[in-house]
Amino acid sequence: MSVKVKCRHCLRAIGEMKDSNQVQQLVQEQPLSNDELNEILQEDEQGELNVLLVCEECEEILTQNPSLFEQDNFIH
Ligand SMILES: [Zn+2]
Repeated sequence: MSVKVKCRHCLRAIGEMKDSNQVQQLVQEQPLSNDELNEILQEDEQGELNVLLVCEECEEILTQNPSLFEQDNFIH
């Protein structure tokens, strides 16, 4: 089963992983609590797992505007 990696802000597809170990590793690299990890790992209607991260573009925007972290969907 492949796992899709998407940006949690703009929902752009960042990539796809076929190996669940790779997903585990990626998730563990994120400085997040368990609750937050549950939030970024989501199953869609097809039962596929999605990993919601932040793409480079959004990360840059967030770095420049840290207050945007308080809003979940600032890009529409
Ligand atoms: Zn993004």
